[in-house]
Amino acid sequence: MNPEEFRRLGHMVVDWIADYRARIAEYPVQSQVGPGDIRAQLPPAPPDLPEPFEQILADMQQVIVPGLTHWQHPHFFGYFPANAELSSVLGDYLSTGLGVLGLAWQSSPAMTEVEEVVTDWMRQMLGLSAAWSGVIQESASTSTLVALLCARERASDYAFARGGLQSVPAPLVVYTSQQSHSSVAKAALLAGFGREYVRAIATDPAYALDPQQLQSAIERDLAQGLRPCAIVATIGTTTTTALDPLEPIGALAQQHGIWLHVDAAMAGSAMILPECRWMWAGIEQADTLVLNPHKWLGTPFDCSLYYVRDPHALIRVMSTTPSYLQTAVDMHVKNLRDWGLPLGRRFRALKLWCLIREQGVHALQARLRRDLANAQWLADQIRATPHWQILAPIPLQTLCVRHTPPILTDSAAIDAHTRAWVAHINQSGAAYLTPAVLDDRWMVRVSIGALTTEQPHVAHLWQVMQAAVAAADH
Ligand SMILES: *Cc1c(COP(=O)(O)O)cnc(C)c1O
Repeated sequence: MNPEEFRRLGHMVVDWIADYRARIAEYPVQSQVGPGDIRAQLPPAPPDLPEPFEQILADMQQVIVPGLTHWQHPHFFGYFPANAELSSVLGDYLSTGLGVLGLAWQSSPAMTEVEEVVTDWMRQMLGLSAAWSGVIQESASTSTLVALLCARERASDYAFARGGLQSVPAPLVVYTSQQSHSSVAKAALLAGFGREYVRAIATDPAYALDPQQLQSAIERDLAQGLRPCAIVATIGTTTTTALDPLEPIGALAQQHGIWLHVDAAMAGSAMILPECRWMWAGIEQADTLVLNPHKWLGTPFDCSLYYVRDPHALIRVMSTTPSYLQTAVDMHVKNLRDWGLPLGRRFRALKLWCLIREQGVHALQARLRRDLANAQWLADQIRATPHWQILAPIPLQTLCVRHTPPILTDSAAIDAHTRAWVAHINQSGAAYLTPAVLDDRWMVRVSIGALTTEQPHVAHLWQVMQAAVAAADH
């Protein structure tokens, strides 16, 4: 495709996406297709001859769109939001269109330096001290893996340069809460700690890590000759948005020389609001921190911010630097390949740069405040309605709810009722919610915060929920 064809077809693609976004509320939120339906419509073998791009775009509408669950839909209340603000979508286009790769600073100086600037803008927006340096990673999962690799190496005096984990005299232990994201246990296993040395610490009634339990676990392990290595605390757990108390956790980490990594994948975005920063009080005691602007803030996936207080501890573990990657300026610049797992990287900073510049901090703050207010409004309706329960505190925009009709008494029947009414809503396409298990019982998460979700959409959801429990009863 030459630039002139790209100009013509590119405008068509932009028009297509603009139409999709403009009409998104007309689609059922959850895709209505069954397993294999999409594959059956696609040729099993690749075309030998060129096809017109117009045909590809026609297939997008006819074949692909019916197979989508629409995350940007105003009635999307599932998982956590994955907002793709259109200004940031354009930033992503620019990144892809440039087609440059960051290996070293020299392989595209602007790529490194814009990333330095926007991660520092974000640091200021989040109210973090100047002691933090940021880098963009693909996901919170990868960032947590990087954090645990660095924690492992610091605790073992960089044994990877010698006999590795296999030469460490005492087993290293990782601590996290029972409510932490599955990516934390996965990272610990991949970093070689072993399931036996990953402690899932019990939580308090608000589903936050209990620091007393953490302290006991650390003392028990020390008494047995084990080596406490890392704590992964969560600000905004995935099930209930619980807030692990960073002040006592940080004090334990300092006392025992344990690495503290904070997973604020979802809740981190809320820290652009000064009134929310109590939620991570004590954050300055952490060693590393991850948050996902690709959730609530509005950059399309992937854009995870990983902040470290000691870049040297990161670079020492991540740097390889063979001769063909060394350049004359290495002492004076950041080489972001030394700040994470992959060698190559896209110009992901552009989507954050475009988002922050086109929106401005005040509009981003106003949108998050809108979502927080909508969550409190819905919580008020639910609390005022008989037979509905709110099961966890609501510091942010996610509600955990259950409907318990008086005729149902045993928990298996209530679980069946819960799963029936949420399936009824999701299958209808009227809204989209995620069922989840809390304390061994099914409940329903209502996660507010899609870009297009305004108060009337939340009011609509509440109508849909009340109608669904009535329908599920019959
Ligand atoms: C969503 C989430 C993750 C995983 O994020 P990815 O970027 O998809 O890896 C990790 N931790 C928490 C608390 C999350 O909410």
